[in-house]
Order: sequence, then C-alpha cells, then structure tokens
Amino acid sequence: MPSLIFRKGLDLKDAVAGILAENYHSRVVEQIKANDFTYTAGRLTVHLAREFGFCYGVDRAVDYAYQTRARFPQQRVYLTGEIIHNPHVNDQLRAMGVRFMSDPGESIDQLGPRDVVILPAFGVTVQLLTDLDRRGCTLVDTTCGSVLNVWKNVRRYAQSGFTSVIHGKVWHEETQATASQAVERGGAYLVVLNGEEAEYVCGYIRNGGDRAAFLERFGSAASSGFEPDRDLARIGLANQTTMLMSESLAIGELVRAAMLDRWGADDLAAHYQAFDTICSATQDRQDAVVDLLRDHHVDLVVVVGGYNSSNTANLARICAAARPTFHIADPACLVSVDEIRHRPIGKKDEIATRGWLPAAGPVRIGLTSGASTPDNLVGAVVATLEAFCA
Ligand code: SF4
Repeated sequence: MPSLIFRKGLDLKDAVAGILAENYHSRVVEQIKANDFTYTAGRLTVHLAREFGFCYGVDRAVDYAYQTRARFPQQRVYLTGEIIHNPHVNDQLRAMGVRFMSDPGESIDQLGPRDVVILPAFGVTVQLLTDLDRRGCTLVDTTCGSVLNVWKNVRRYAQSGFTSVIHGKVWHEETQATASQAVERGGAYLVVLNGEEAEYVCGYIRNGGDRAAFLERFGSAASSGFEPDRDLARIGLANQTTMLMSESLAIGELVRAAMLDRWGADDLAAHYQAFDTICSATQDRQDAVVDLLRDHHVDLVVVVGGYNSSNTANLARICAAARPTFHIADPACLVSVDEIRHRPIGKKDEIATRGWLPAAGPVRIGLTSGASTPDNLVGAVVATLEAFCA
C-alpha cells in the first residue's frame, strides 16, 4: 500500500494555534521586542539579539507535529527522532503521546500501515524514507525548504559526476540525509567538519598524497568505495544549513583555490561548482549576535538552546570570541547569582561555573537563542536574571 504523505500541513493550523501559543509564546519577549530589544530592571539591562529563536523551518515543523496529533488522535504517531534539537519541545510532544523511534524499546519493525510518522525539519535519509514507505505508514514531511534546496544541488552534483563535499557534522541527521541524496543518485560525498579538515583535503587535491592515510582519516565521513584520486577530481560544495556561515564560506574559498591550482582557470568550471546553500535564518541569527556585540558593550552573553543544537553552538562560538559566554540548555541552568550550569564551547559536557554574574552594580547581558529554542524559555531566562539582580 503506498504511503500517504502530507507536505503542506493538515488543515488544522487554526485549531492548534492556541495550544502552540500557550506552550511556546512569551509575553515578556514580545515586550522586549517592542522596546527596541532591550529590557531594563534595576541594575540589570538585557540586550536581546534582533533575530533569535524559532526559525521558519522549526516553526513549521512544530506546527505540523501538533496538527498531526490533532488529526490522528486514535492512531500511533511517531517521530523518527527529535523533531528539533530542543529537549523542552521534544518533551512536550512526548507528553502529547507522540512516540520517538529513537527511544529505547522502539523500533521501525513495529511500524505498519496504521501508523503515522512525522519526518523532522532536517529531513531523513533516503533509506529511512524508503523503509517507511514500504511499510505503508502515513507520513507527515516537515523537511525545511532550505534543506530541500541543499538536496537539490547535491542531486545535481551527483547526476553530473561531481562529488559533494559537505561542510557539516557527519553525525548530524541533516548531513546524513544530505549525503544519502548524493548516494541515491549514484554520486560520492565527503563530509568536512572544519577548516583544518578542508586544508587537508585541499593538500590532497593539489599534490596527491597517501591514499591510505586519507581513507583512514575520512573513511567514516565519505561514501562507500571513496577513492580520493578519482573522487576529488570534480567537486560540488554543499553545507549543513546550521554551520557557521563564515566557516562555510571560508571552506568554499579554500576548496575553490585548491581546484584552481590543480586544474587552472580555463578548466575550473569543469571541476568545481558551488551554489549558495546557507540558510537565511541561520545567517540572520549569526549576523544579529555580531551586531549586538558591536552595538552594545555587554558584560557577558547568555545563549539559550539544546546542547546538541548545531546552530545554537555556533551562536555561542561567535559570542565567546568577544565576551564571556554561557551556552545554557534551559532556564534551570541559571542556578543562582553565584552558579550557572553551561556547556563550554567545543566541549561535550555541561559544567558548573561560580561567580558568573557580577554580584553588585550595573550588569549588561547579551541574550540570544538558537533556531530550535521557543520564546517562553527566553522569557523565563529574563525573569530569572531579573530575580537574581533584584
Ligand atoms: S535552521 Fe534553516 S534549514 Fe534548518 S529548519 Fe531552520 S530555516 Fe530550515
């Protein structure tokens, strides 16, 4: 039985608008926006970034998930994994009876034609989609248009014999889904995490090198059967939409320069392609913190978002280069005036830091949140900061 796929919602937008507002809206945040993105209370001043929080893709994915629950109240509704990288939102969905295929005890083998499966904003691999389709599940596809745009380019690369070099995290669902698009069209891919990895690849492009060492380093980040001497001869650039924009652009330049050296200007177009696949929401949020740090002298910055949220981690990276920065998962991380729990840049684990907030005198705090963080968490952070500074 062919799957039924909903790609444009389920005609229940108005029906779920109230509960969405109740779960994620913040009156305090609306006030701050209306007050030139500034909040003042006693010795505390908070400067909120002008672009922050839910992006259009996340907004739509969460909306569709709520519509799905409302449309299929009697059927099992699954998510393939986290709908977005925010524990608060995922817990809300669990509380509504939505099940997660990634949870212990759950398995795709349990799914059949009566089940409904929501595909997340960052998409799923071709293999998983095929499997769900084969089982006859009803699918609600929330894959973001900006991710689909990356896929379109990756498929085009594969069809014209170009290897997709993807700036991304090989363990991230979106990058795995993007890579699977290349493979499905018979193409190769290579995922590079950062500038250092890109430099290594560029060295190989220019001068060749030790094939075995290359495969040792990139074997798990490349398509099966990847041959660097063959598959680096024609390259198309792509990226995970939530990476640091400046880093994606820099990697693009590095690879382009290496291909230019290797093949010369006349043949460059036959060996190198790139399209702009940076998501505008990611770009806007990164630009907004740069503007905030330029326009306001803040003592510290608080960045709110899930620790596994790539775009939140990148916002924290930008801020940490300029001011003391604390990436917190939720308002409960603000333990006291003296103590904060946070994840340092580039580390996996949360730590506790003491003496993070000036105990007396005026304090100016920069505030932003990742694309998967609802406004009510930002509002709760502001309320806690106000209480600490009272
Ligand atoms: S971060 Fe960009 S690509 Fe990802 S869901 Fe949001 S808008 Fe879409």
